[in-house]
Amino acid sequence: MPETLAIGVDIGGTGTKGGLVSPDGTIHERHEVPTDPQAGTKSIIQVVDGLLERAGNRPVAAIGVGAAGFIDHAHGSVTFSPNLVYDDPNIADALTARTGLASVVDNDANVAAWGEHAFGSARDARHLVLVTLGTGVGSGIIVDGHLVRGATGSAAEFGHTVVDPFGPPCPCGLRGCLEQFTSGTAIARNAKAAVEADRSSTILSFAGSVPAITAEHVAHAAREMDEVARTVLAKAGRMLGIGLSNLANLFDPEVIVLAGSVVAAGEPYLGVARDTFNQMMMAQRRRAYRLDVTKLGHDAGILGAAALALYDLEER
Ligand SMILES: [Zn+2]
Repeated sequence: MPETLAIGVDIGGTGTKGGLVSPDGTIHERHEVPTDPQAGTKSIIQVVDGLLERAGNRPVAAIGVGAAGFIDHAHGSVTFSPNLVYDDPNIADALTARTGLASVVDNDANVAAWGEHAFGSARDARHLVLVTLGTGVGSGIIVDGHLVRGATGSAAEFGHTVVDPFGPPCPCGLRGCLEQFTSGTAIARNAKAAVEADRSSTILSFAGSVPAITAEHVAHAAREMDEVARTVLAKAGRMLGIGLSNLANLFDPEVIVLAGSVVAAGEPYLGVARDTFNQMMMAQRRRAYRLDVTKLGHDAGILGAAALALYDLEER
């Protein structure tokens, strides 16, 4: 009997990508389209259509989708999406109506956490937290093998836990959210201010101008031992370490997995986070925690969405 496949779709701000995935986490086919910012559901359907065509006569059992924002997992719909317009917010219903296949939708960080749980750094762990460090900061939390979604699908917003009540304002309405210190956006903002004060930094030569500075430029300069860059990343790392200690106090996970583009900044950022975290855990006489970096990388969304679709199908 041929193995049962699932389609996993990861919709992002610029691209919607999907894969035809087997239960062992092999991606057999891929398809990607540019995301239509005014019609997110249409982009998802395009990817699913393309993958079903490529599947040929191989059996596909279910479809999983990971999307940013607040997701009502029970109904497979988007309740709040900050950056994308969905022509049809009831994504799961739209997919099932078109394909006849069971469909699930979840928050992108939840899906990525599920991917790490199924195939990645946190395989075998029943208690884990995934933290995504990118333009913003997100998280997916798994407790005793179950995703924590909350009453309205807005749980696990680790990026909007406050670490400094007098910190910078956050678009969410609060001040001093963790995201305002640890995201790529925050690192770029802090680096711009630091370079204005000290224009000898090599960050400036990599970026060309102050407004053009990104977190990648800061990471690059830090690898070249630029002091300004290392100070900016160390500040971000300290705040991340403080945030991680809050996670340990709340969830006592077996492992915390770090993912997202900013992870590439490496030791000048993550090393400081790990040291701060370890010191705080020791001060509380807690055990040492496992802190890993994602093994799935850019495929975490596709793999997690497909694995979640197969899991939900079994649970039904
Ligand atoms: Zn916030």
